[in-house]
Amino acid sequence: MPDRPPPKPPTRAPGRVKEVTSASNPLVKDIRALAQKKHREETGLFLVEGLKLVIDGLDAGWELSTLVIAKAASDNPLLAKTAARAVASGADVIEASAKVLEAITRRDNPQSAAGVFRRRLASLGEIDLSGKAVAVVLDRVRDPGNLGTVLRTADAAGASGVVLVGDTVDPFSLETVRATMGSIFAVPIARAKEAEFLTWRSRIKGLVVGTHMRGETDYRAPDYGAQPVLLMMGNEQAGLSDALAETCDVLVRIPQAGRADSLNLAVATGVMLFEARRGVLAL
Ligand code: SAM
Repeated sequence: MPDRPPPKPPTRAPGRVKEVTSASNPLVKDIRALAQKKHREETGLFLVEGLKLVIDGLDAGWELSTLVIAKAASDNPLLAKTAARAVASGADVIEASAKVLEAITRRDNPQSAAGVFRRRLASLGEIDLSGKAVAVVLDRVRDPGNLGTVLRTADAAGASGVVLVGDTVDPFSLETVRATMGSIFAVPIARAKEAEFLTWRSRIKGLVVGTHMRGETDYRAPDYGAQPVLLMMGNEQAGLSDALAETCDVLVRIPQAGRADSLNLAVATGVMLFEARRGVLAL
């Protein structure tokens, strides 16, 4: 029997194009409000800056709600093509004055485009832990730049997802999205309370590696290639909670020279990810 075609995503009616010249326009106010976590949570929307990121999001199949483009640059062929693609996908397009784009992006020299996308979170069950998959767990990550850099690094290393445990910074804040450089659209992100995570973890078949300043195993020692791996990274100040550290199969440490107490969280995650994926990544 032939394979069934994949289900088609629901189609939306084409969007509309509007010109907006005043920063006090309600549409602009709504987009500006996405700087607040509360408003992102209520609407399920988030803002990305720059044409490249908008195209990344569209290419990855994320739902674009509104595209804002600089009216002055609307004859740029790629911008015009993206605007047409956005309208066809059901998004509204705002042709904005420079002042409006400055207000939306809160920058003096704004990019020529910004996009409002519908956010997506994965469930824990959607994080792939089969074969040689490697996923990252972040305990109570607090710094938006760190989270964005971890997402970008996880994407580059081919990680299957990032799980945010406990009270964490919002992955869809403007600062985090900026730091991902587009990887926000590439890496599945799940969020869980610690207890919920521990229940999920108890069902995982694979190696759970915790990184810890008091780890007694060199980070290069575990056999990362033999089974799926969960890499657990601690909070910037407090490290891994006791409950999370206790659930690990092994606690590893990256040896350090010099006077620094520890590595930055995102740097440590990069070192761990590329070690864990060494057998899979080859030039
Ligand atoms: N004061 C914290 C502590 O004692 O755990 C330092 C936390 S460090 C800034 C943030 C996280 O990065 C750590 O919890 C750990 O996951 C990882 N990390 C940083 N340096 C590390 C190292 N040398 N070895 C293993 N993990 C490290």
